[in-house]
Order: sequence, then C-alpha cells, then structure tokens
Amino acid sequence: TKHFPVRRRVRDLLSRERRVVHAVDDVNLVLRRGRVTALVGESGSGKSTVARLLAQLYRRTSGDIRLHGESTTVRGGRRFRAYARRVQLTFQDPFASLNPVHTVRYHLTRSLRIHGHGGRTAAELERALHDLLGRVSLTPAERYIDKFPHELSGGQRQRVAIARALGADPEVLLADEPVSMLDVSIRLGVLNLLRDLKERLNLAILYITHDIASARYFADDTLVMYAGRMVEGGDSETVTQRPAHPYTRLLIASAPDPDRIQGSPTDAAAATPEDRGGGEPPSLIDPPPGCRFHPRCPNAMPRCLTALPPRLAVQGEPGHWASCWLYDPENTETPGSAAREV
Ligand code: SF4
Ligand code: MG
Repeated sequence: TKHFPVRRRVRDLLSRERRVVHAVDDVNLVLRRGRVTALVGESGSGKSTVARLLAQLYRRTSGDIRLHGESTTVRGGRRFRAYARRVQLTFQDPFASLNPVHTVRYHLTRSLRIHGHGGRTAAELERALHDLLGRVSLTPAERYIDKFPHELSGGQRQRVAIARALGADPEVLLADEPVSMLDVSIRLGVLNLLRDLKERLNLAILYITHDIASARYFADDTLVMYAGRMVEGGDSETVTQRPAHPYTRLLIASAPDPDRIQGSPTDAAAATPEDRGGGEPPSLIDPPPGCRFHPRCPNAMPRCLTALPPRLAVQGEPGHWASCWLYDPENTETPGSAAREV
C-alpha cells in the first residue's frame, strides 16, 4: 500500500491541513520467474507507482515486499542491496533515464561495475559489454557502443535501457510502458525481445501498459488496476477473452481494435475509456466509498455504494478473480439496480 502525503491547494495550505493520496491500496501480486505479468490500467491508475514501489524507489506506507520469501522491509544493509540488484526497472522514456552526455559504453560499464559484473581486465569488460548489446540485439556492438543517446532511435534507446538493466543480472525486470512511446512498427520487436529474454534468462517480467490488447499477446498473466486497486486477475487469455470485472469489459470495449496487437499511433489517447462516455476515474484523494468503480458501473447494486468488494473467484475458471460483488455467490441484489442513469 502506498499513500502519498499531499498538501491541499493554496487556500487549504493556509489551514495546513494535510491530506493523503491513496495512490495504491491493497496491491497484492506475485511475480514468477519465466513469466510475464501484465499490469494494465489507465494513466493515473497507480500502475507506475506499483513498479516504483517494487523497485523500492518509493517507501511503502504499509505492506511488505518479499523476495524468495524474505522480507525486504529493512532498508539499507546487504539484503536491500541484493534486492536492488535483483529487481531492475526500466522507464517509459529511455531518453529521460539515459544521461545525454554519456555514451552507451558509459551507461553499460557503469551498470556492470556497480553490480560487480565488469570483469577484472579491460578485455573482460569489453566482452561483457558486447555480450550485453548482443542480448538486446544491438549488433554489431561496435555500431552502437560509442553512440550518445540522441544518436539512437527510440527503439534502440529502449534496448540500451534494457541492456543496462540486464547488466545487474536481475531476476525481476519491471518494464514500465516499454513500448508506448515507440513507433507502432517497432513495438512488436521490443516486446518479442523481452519475451525472448524472459525465456533465455528465466526472468520474471512485470509489463506495465495501458494497452490490454498487448497484454493478451505478450503476457502470461494479466492484472487490471483501477483507481489504485487491483480489480481483476488471471491468465491473460481468460482475462482478455472473458473479462469478469465491468471495468475490464469497458477497457476492452474501448480498446482501439482488439484484434491488433498494438493500437494506432494515437492509442495512448484512444485507449482511455472516458472518451467513450464511460465517465472519469475518481480522484485518489478521498476515493469514493464502496467499490471505486461504482460511479461508472452499469451493473452497480446498492451494496456497491458502501461496501468494498473483496477478491472473489470467478466460478469455473481457476485462478481468475475479480473484486466485484457480482461474483459473490450469496449476492441477492439485482445487477444494475443502483446504476446511475447515463
Ligand atoms: Fe463495482 Fe458493483 Fe460494478 Fe462490481 S457491480 S464493479 S462491485 S459497482
Ligand atoms: Mg505511468
């Protein structure tokens, strides 16, 4: 769970009243080696916050992160450093995360050295650098190694950012929107590279995206976030073919073209369901009581307005769950009976 303390806007600052953004609540996920887990949601749903929490760039308000069953609650010390090496994060915009005054060689050497994988001799280091570039299919390495970030294409920069993460020899890769800023024509290449790395290096990958169609193509498991909470999860095929949560259904219905792996160049905007008349995600300051989706939900029932739904199993679909009262076997209320007229 992550709550950001914020101050209210100017007039409220005078009263010095402090409020809390419920950035993410009750997030519960397990990443497994050799699997890609997609975390899908609109912008502002909290998905990047989850990645930063897992990378321990943010401190948690509460909760725990375990690696191989061991708590990482204590910051500092050897256990934290081991965690920081094993869990690597890449960002949506690799341009912003690569230092413009340094070459590819500098970035990768630094990563290798920090994590103790640079070898002892200059020749060993050079071999390790070539290996890294080879892993992300930037070959021949000589063509890329002395380039500055601005001399590379967006796709090449993202590959360098991935190579830098691999320099740590991680077990977990947190990829925050790795292709959403890239040209549609090269997205598939980067996703295929990540899938290949998952298999060859037995990585656990968290793939963060607003594009549920790509989750179906690329991820083994899919989790859907809405307003800072996880609302549905299961294997990707099931979640995308038979979505259980009304929000996931809305996401799929408003995706630009479910049969295409990636949307149009404007899919970042098109995939936002508000355009299609679905209302807006709620503020994360004082989120609505009950189910956070109830103001937009066509199936809302009276209980949804006051009671937060727990994770409920979808009958007959092992591993598939939704945080939605529709899946409560004891539910007696009529779906839609509390939905607002639109
Ligand atoms: Fe939420 Fe109720 Fe709609 Fe389910 S039916 S998504 S619990 S408002
Ligand atoms: Mg984000």
